[in-house]
Amino acid sequence: MNQSQQWIDRNDQVIAKTYGRYPLVPVRGEGCKLWDADGKEYLDLLAGVAVNNLGHCPPRVVAAVQEQAATLLHCSNYYNIPQQIRLAELLCENSFADRVFFCNSGAEANEAAIKLARKYSTEKHGAGRSEVLTALASFHGRTYCGISATGQDKVKEGFAPLLPGFKHLPFGDIEALRAAVNVETCAILLEPIQGEGGVNLPPENYFKQVRQLCDEKGLLLILDEVQTGCGRTGTLFAYEQEGIEPDIMTLAKGLASGVPIGAMLAREELATHLGPGTHGSTFGGNPLATAAGVATLETLLQEGVLENCREMGNYLSSELEKLKQKYDFILNVRGRGLIIGVELSIEGGEMVKTAMSRGLLINCTIGKVLRFVPPLIINKQEINQAIETLDGIFSEVI
Ligand SMILES: *Cc1c(COP(=O)(O)O)cnc(C)c1O
Repeated sequence: MNQSQQWIDRNDQVIAKTYGRYPLVPVRGEGCKLWDADGKEYLDLLAGVAVNNLGHCPPRVVAAVQEQAATLLHCSNYYNIPQQIRLAELLCENSFADRVFFCNSGAEANEAAIKLARKYSTEKHGAGRSEVLTALASFHGRTYCGISATGQDKVKEGFAPLLPGFKHLPFGDIEALRAAVNVETCAILLEPIQGEGGVNLPPENYFKQVRQLCDEKGLLLILDEVQTGCGRTGTLFAYEQEGIEPDIMTLAKGLASGVPIGAMLAREELATHLGPGTHGSTFGGNPLATAAGVATLETLLQEGVLENCREMGNYLSSELEKLKQKYDFILNVRGRGLIIGVELSIEGGEMVKTAMSRGLLINCTIGKVLRFVPPLIINKQEINQAIETLDGIFSEVI
């Protein structure tokens, strides 16, 4: 029996069955490449679901983690943590925000955002103004707050009662949002581009209208940039391309190249409402995670990664468009930077498995949308290789 199969069998014995796992055991990575336990090579266009934005084991991040691990792994948030301070400075210098709260995941970042929004609303307007409007087909994480905010029934089944105070409206429909606002509305929570929901882009000017609505009604605009942030769309944050600024933003996936981290960013007048003792996290922003975050952000900002993302995003999109001309089961190619969805008229799950067997890692979300979220450092030759493999798979569809 090969090494991979042994691990898969052992996985079946002890790991909770929360994921339908593919029979793949990655043990090593470099750039856009991964190797499994038997030495087989893969081209990785999933990147840990938009986590490995700098590719696998980016040297600058690896060096920072190695050095930090040997110096100080963890200390309490009762103290001041230089790496955490540096990462917050970088985030604030390069965004709308004035303050950052660090945690360990996207769901936790969204928890912090909702807590801040309600706390602010209570202190500013009094009790009873707590409802958060979010979008259908959205995804905000797997905690109770996360699944309550998420606009997909499949993540909620069997888990009732959920957290009250969320209302879900169609993504991209400003009139539906406007009609849902009432005296109890506190905030609007949206992804700039819906990732898990099928790479759904907003209509032009939608976010300008949402910002206007929030300003008119005194609502907070919370952007969940857990997937779209950290360079994924070709700018450091996706909101920059909408010509607006949020009041609160959440980050996680790409922020520390794979070391677990989450962050909630806010403007000063909001952030002050979470005072000492109101919120916290044991691990949040610890020296190891934030050292990885600093090295990740510095690389993103200083080494032409955003530019490469825009360029390779255009190239991958145009190559996928060519496949669309060739195969009539491809309905649509859409995306921004290097978050790209290919909507099919048929199920895509089997294609993902076939691709894997041929050394290409991709993903299919909501059944019929192939999702491409490769490392932002991908090059033309790697894209050509992926397109060739996909062309072969598509040509076998009958
Ligand atoms: C992945 C994701 C989350 C959840 O992040 P976790 O780190 O898994 O908790 C939340 N929101 C969006 C938009 C995501 O893509």
